[in-house]
Amino acid sequence: MKDFLYIANWKMAKPFTQALHFVKNNKFKLAKLAQSHKTVICPSFVSLYPIIQELQNTSIKVGAQNCSAFAPGAYTGQVSAKSLKEVGCSYCIIGHSERRQYNHETNEEIAQKLELLLKNELQPIICIGESEQAFKNKKTKPILTEQLQPLLQILQKISFKKPIYFAYEPVWAIGSGIIPSNDYLSEITRWLGQQCTTQVPGLDIRIIYGGSVNPNNAASLKAIESINGFLIGSASLDFQKLKKIVS
Ligand code: PEP
Repeated sequence: MKDFLYIANWKMAKPFTQALHFVKNNKFKLAKLAQSHKTVICPSFVSLYPIIQELQNTSIKVGAQNCSAFAPGAYTGQVSAKSLKEVGCSYCIIGHSERRQYNHETNEEIAQKLELLLKNELQPIICIGESEQAFKNKKTKPILTEQLQPLLQILQKISFKKPIYFAYEPVWAIGSGIIPSNDYLSEITRWLGQQCTTQVPGLDIRIIYGGSVNPNNAASLKAIESINGFLIGSASLDFQKLKKIVS
């Protein structure tokens, strides 16, 4: 059986009270699920600490949805990788397309975040993916190469013992209900894996998929050999849907 990782990205959809209720109400069912399936929950910053406390002594891991590109210092409104580590996070998503779009994050800035995550021993979940336009113009691989380059440079200079996750998320598949074909996903994720392992041999790099994963398409997507996990947005907000995807 594949070592598959399920990551729930709650984005800003669950405010503090709702996020905590979800975890409290589903704690035992979630814990049971996570005993046999690696599961990570990524709530918003303010919910991290109470959720980590609530999930102590379970196998469920908690991740952040972003971190600052800077070490602790005078950066009003930002949250450092060091803080996330201290609070008990195990993972951190960086480079999500919503942050690239709304916060104008650049590939170089995302690489700076990667460096800080590795230095603070947090496992990165690095999102990359092409726009619909790029997909239509058959520019997926050049775009992914551009996004990968500064990230791979960081990975070449810092050794890291745990798996590093690249989430391939075609922007046009996020929240749209549209899923790329299995052949396309297989080709791209295999190619991504090869790019990473040839440029950074020796690192444990895993490719996961994100974009409209739901209970109906999960089994078929899971069968793609080169996919080692899912980054799940809207379907992860509902425990029953999440459970169906995971199990
Ligand atoms: C995401 O935002 O990372 C995502 C995959 O969202 P959704 O599952 O809702 O498409």
